[in-house]
Amino acid sequence: MSKPPEPRDSISHRYFRRVFRWFIGFAVLLTMVLVAETLWQGRDKLQTELTVYQRSFERSIAAALWALDWDKLNSIAVGMVEIPAIRGVRILDPGGSSEILRIGALPDPGAEIRGYGLTHRFDLIHEEGFVRERIGVIELHSSFDQVFERSQRQISLILLLGLLKTLVLWWIFLTVGRRLIAKPLTEMVEVLADAEPLRPMRLSDATRKAIDGTELGALQVAYDRLIERVQTAQKALEDVNCSLEERVRERTLELERANDKLEQLAHTDPLTGLPNRRQFIAAAQTLIALSRRSGRPLVLIVCDIDAFKRVNDVHGHTVGDQAICYVADCLRRAVREIDVVARFGGDEFVLLLPDVSAAEALAAAERVRQLVSGSWISCPNGERLRVTLSLGIAEWATGDVRLEDLFLRADERLYRAKAAGRNCTIADDTNAPSTGDPKAVRSAGQPAGH
Ligand code: GH3
Ligand code: MG
Repeated sequence: MSKPPEPRDSISHRYFRRVFRWFIGFAVLLTMVLVAETLWQGRDKLQTELTVYQRSFERSIAAALWALDWDKLNSIAVGMVEIPAIRGVRILDPGGSSEILRIGALPDPGAEIRGYGLTHRFDLIHEEGFVRERIGVIELHSSFDQVFERSQRQISLILLLGLLKTLVLWWIFLTVGRRLIAKPLTEMVEVLADAEPLRPMRLSDATRKAIDGTELGALQVAYDRLIERVQTAQKALEDVNCSLEERVRERTLELERANDKLEQLAHTDPLTGLPNRRQFIAAAQTLIALSRRSGRPLVLIVCDIDAFKRVNDVHGHTVGDQAICYVADCLRRAVREIDVVARFGGDEFVLLLPDVSAAEALAAAERVRQLVSGSWISCPNGERLRVTLSLGIAEWATGDVRLEDLFLRADERLYRAKAAGRNCTIADDTNAPSTGDPKAVRSAGQPAGH
């Protein structure tokens, strides 16, 4: 199984990078609002302080101005400027147009920050009895540096806490994300990559606990179910394959049996069960080849039922078939195991005897002839039918080349046996049947006893 491609990025990292991009933007905005609010509060507080200083100093300044005591006025103003909240003091005439006294740092007239309340201006009033007279105007100047200086700690704390909050949140999110998403996913991929094919996903307890009830848990359950379905389908396929193989085996066996039967039928005579002409020729070729190589004798005996047409004519074909089977049986019983006996066609049978002398072959032929003629067939009408054979014998000779050469001689002797009166064997060219039984010949095809 090929390894899955190595991921270029972790999903938890990517997810939280995107989340925190927004979160940091928002946190910065909130922090800015907090800083602005802190500065605003500082400005208000400074304003209030200047008002308090107005109440503290207005009487003494007004008195010094009324008395035109410049030294006192100057020392009061210097004292005021030493207060951290006050950077500069300016005293103007009652019309507010010309300057009487100026102490400390004052903003340039053009750069004066109006609207931020950092300059506190009030009238200096001289009261005597019920008389109130405006004798001047005083301005107490402060600056935003004061506000910044005073709010510095608070602003630093706000920024530090904001940074800390963001970092801690980032760390928590990463740790939790790694535990709940990245680690389970990595483990699932590894398990799938290493697992044997078609096995449910086996995860560690920690991972199973982490993904339980989540989409990843559902993914694992869905995967396991898929595997179950595939396993079931595979099992069904195996069953089908097995039964298919079984059926193929059965069919093959049947075919082999049918082939064997066909083979047997192709080589066997269906009436007698003896080998047929084709089988005989094949066996004869082998025996001839062996005989030619070893130089050992090989004898062919050709037998033909005498007057068989008459048997059919008189007793019918069923009895004729019976007679053929009877002769086949006699032949089977009369020969050795190594001899080949076959029905050559019609009422003609052949015997091929390896390793026998002429005399032994003649004896075998006579044994067959006597066996056949020595008994009878019971006909359905109760009659007894005696059957006889005529036989011709030929021995494989030096000049013989083919089976036909042997057959020619054996056939020719068979004809001579027929001509000699049937129910006899001729084994040579002397024209003398080895055993003539004219009585038997005469009775062939006739019921025994006739
Ligand atoms: P011969 O003594 O000269 O041989 O006279 P025959 O009447 O036997 O003459 P032949 O051998 O030529 O006749 C063979 C007959 O055998 C002809 C055919 O009707 C009959 N025959 C051939 N095959 C069968 C068979 O399978 N069953 C039966 N019932 N008769 C067969
Ligand atoms: Mg015949």
